[in-house]
Amino acid sequence: MASMMQPQIILLKEGTDTSQGKAQLLSNINAVTAVGDVVRTTLGPRGMDKLIHDDKGSVTISNDGATIMKLLDIVHPAAKILVDIAKSQDSEVGDGTTTVVLLAAEFLKEAKPFVEDGVHSQNLIRSYRTASTLAIEKVKELAVSIEGKSVEEKKGLLAKCAATTLSSKLIGGEKEFFATMVVDAVMAIGDDDRLNLIGIKKVPGGNMRDSFLVDGVAFKKTFSYAGFEQQPKKFLNPKILLLNIELELKSEKENAEIRLSDPSQYQSIVDAEWNIIYDKLDKCVESGAKVVLSRLAIGDLATQYFADRDIFCAGRVAEEDLNRVAAAAGGTVQTSVNNIIPEVLGTCEIFEEKQVGGERFNIFSGCPSGRTATIVLRGGADQFIEEAERSLHDAIMIVRRAVKNSTVVPGGGAIDMEVSKYLRQHSRTIAGKSQLFINSYAKALEVIPRQLCDNAGFDATDVLNKLRQKHAMQSAGEGASYGVDINTGGIADSYANFVWEPAVVKINAINAATEAACLILSVDETVKNPKSESAQGDAATGAMGRGRGGGRGRGMRRR
Ligand code: ADP
Ligand code: MG
Repeated sequence: MASMMQPQIILLKEGTDTSQGKAQLLSNINAVTAVGDVVRTTLGPRGMDKLIHDDKGSVTISNDGATIMKLLDIVHPAAKILVDIAKSQDSEVGDGTTTVVLLAAEFLKEAKPFVEDGVHSQNLIRSYRTASTLAIEKVKELAVSIEGKSVEEKKGLLAKCAATTLSSKLIGGEKEFFATMVVDAVMAIGDDDRLNLIGIKKVPGGNMRDSFLVDGVAFKKTFSYAGFEQQPKKFLNPKILLLNIELELKSEKENAEIRLSDPSQYQSIVDAEWNIIYDKLDKCVESGAKVVLSRLAIGDLATQYFADRDIFCAGRVAEEDLNRVAAAAGGTVQTSVNNIIPEVLGTCEIFEEKQVGGERFNIFSGCPSGRTATIVLRGGADQFIEEAERSLHDAIMIVRRAVKNSTVVPGGGAIDMEVSKYLRQHSRTIAGKSQLFINSYAKALEVIPRQLCDNAGFDATDVLNKLRQKHAMQSAGEGASYGVDINTGGIADSYANFVWEPAVVKINAINAATEAACLILSVDETVKNPKSESAQGDAATGAMGRGRGGGRGRGMRRR
């Protein structure tokens, strides 16, 4: 009787929901596979785009894995890991975001039957880690260096890499046009690490082909006051003064409190302010600058004053743009107009204000330090132009990567097939269960060429068989670079066809995807804390409940 009265042990708070064990692991794998299925169709040159709209009515059309993952707003706790690896791939190398998600999902899919059969996750994890190390070594071994080529030759090769990245995007039709532009832009900034030195300005309307590259800075004309139209709009080799001060009459407007005993003194106060601003303007003019830019407002008085002296001015220039002008033209932003020495003035070959579509642009080209470039993008709808910007960002990142560690591997699934073959061969030399696991890992790598075929409407089995045969036949490296031929539905030498990818894209993708897969395999229990749930508000809780439904249903439940 006494034993029945034993008190219940309460470990977790009332309302805590936990699911654990094999069922939990399988439900996590299912969730990840579901996410993989979402992005699957966007892979490759024939990949489809996703249109994502939220309740605020903003619409995004994208082919970029990272962008899609970010916008999907995934609530499943395990599947969220995929969002993180896509993001990290995006910031680390800039491309290969779909690849990484797809690989992680496929690794887990291959692991699923083993988990169901009762294999311990740790065994799988160990084998997967070994396989990933071997795969990365193999990629490094197969990579071809483009070092030691002349600048022109190198530019050509880099353009090929950029074109491969762009071929899967909305602007793929014009990939050569944009690839050259991207390479020129990257070459312009040299080794500088600051990506924001390449500006991308979007001007809706016109044709994609109207996009152009400025070897300097361009920004949209800022708000201007009367008198602006009298200012000259073009200069050759002007001196450029960059300011971070307001050139405007202010205190009078802003209710400054002044106590006067004699009303006739009022005029002297007003005069004083005018004198101060005239003094500032005189100093700007004396500096010899022909173009005056300020981050803060340049008022009507100043605008007219500059116009009378044939000086161009623009106020409220965005900080980013002003800094880029400073970097390109070689000036320094001033916070005072006292003591402007010639060294702080920048210059450029041509400054002009030009009409681009419906907008007016201030364009500084031929900048002496040449360390910046601006791409002015044209094209139809807003969504289109935004996707174009994201695509160019990918291409820019890829070219920069290729410039930095200049080894490339053949794309189109060629490298994946080759690594897969190598792992299969290697697995045969291993005794024990690990052989099966490494074999599955190898099989998972084939998802890239298979998906490229599927997305293009080719017979994936047929193409993959051809590829396997081609890769198996080779004795001395020949055939190793064969991948999917996206134009004919057969197979082709990706290397010869210039479908190149920087080796880091693949290395990073394999690494990140394996890590993510291992991470998910190593989780055997999820605990949901009731406190944090209520803190997240109604919307989030509702979504959480839905997202985790699978886990709860299958897993054991403890209270
Ligand atoms: P990710 O976000 O992973 O970069 P993409 O949609 O850009 O995904 O697709 C990249 C894949 O498409 C790579 O495996 C690449 O090798 C392949 N690919 C790109 N261009 C071609 C091409 N012209 N022929 C065959 N495969 C290509
Ligand atoms: Mg890509």
